[in-house]
Amino acid sequence: MKPKILLFDVGGCEGCPMTVLRSLPSIKDRVELYAKQLGNFDPEDKYDIVLVTGSICINDEHMVNILKRIRENTEILVAFGSCAAVGGVTRFCRGGQEPRPEHRVFQPISSVVEVDYAIPGCPPAPQILNTIINNLTGRAGPFLRIFAAVAKSKKLSGFDLLDDVVLSGLCIGCGACVLSCPTGALQMIEKKPDLIVEKCIRCGTCYVRCPRASQVLLKKYPVQLKVLVKEV
Ligand code: SF4
Ligand code: SF4
Repeated sequence: MKPKILLFDVGGCEGCPMTVLRSLPSIKDRVELYAKQLGNFDPEDKYDIVLVTGSICINDEHMVNILKRIRENTEILVAFGSCAAVGGVTRFCRGGQEPRPEHRVFQPISSVVEVDYAIPGCPPAPQILNTIINNLTGRAGPFLRIFAAVAKSKKLSGFDLLDDVVLSGLCIGCGACVLSCPTGALQMIEKKPDLIVEKCIRCGTCYVRCPRASQVLLKKYPVQLKVLVKEV
């Protein structure tokens, strides 16, 4: 039987849903995809896998309730893209901004519901969905562990990067964190990143870009992988 997959956006820029739709040609013969964009979406249906995109505005009671109902009705919940996974650039939102001037306090969806896998990327590459589906419907590959650990982390920021990687001596001075920061909150000082604290919006981008941070996450959050057919 083909797994039933729902694509549901709670408040992003639509880049991640577009990525999922772009990967449709490579997955359409193996899954049944449901989405508002495809006109076959019902939040009360049961799904095997739900891909949630966008971060959740915790002041939006209606959307928070839909997200909770979706969690109850789904086997595996995936936060797809940086906003859903770690907050991303929607952490800039302070209210009073278009297109949703009444909305503020955007959070990764793990602040509201239990998430099984969080896949950062702005947006993630379309090819990754094919691999994820293969792993969730068959034998789980070891790389799923890092996505499960990101899902458990709840918050990642420049402060965590300094604590976990730089101050613990793991930093190799590659500069990937500085280049990825959308607010210019990181600068290299004596070949190591330093944080301009008032500029950090806690979007998590630097942490997930750091090549040394994944080993910290895997140690901090030992996980049990969940797939559609069995626990491993
Ligand atoms: S330092 Fe920059 S990339 Fe890292 S969490 Fe802060 S704003 Fe985001
Ligand atoms: S990305 Fe990680 S390893 Fe590279 S400079 Fe930043 S903290 Fe150091």
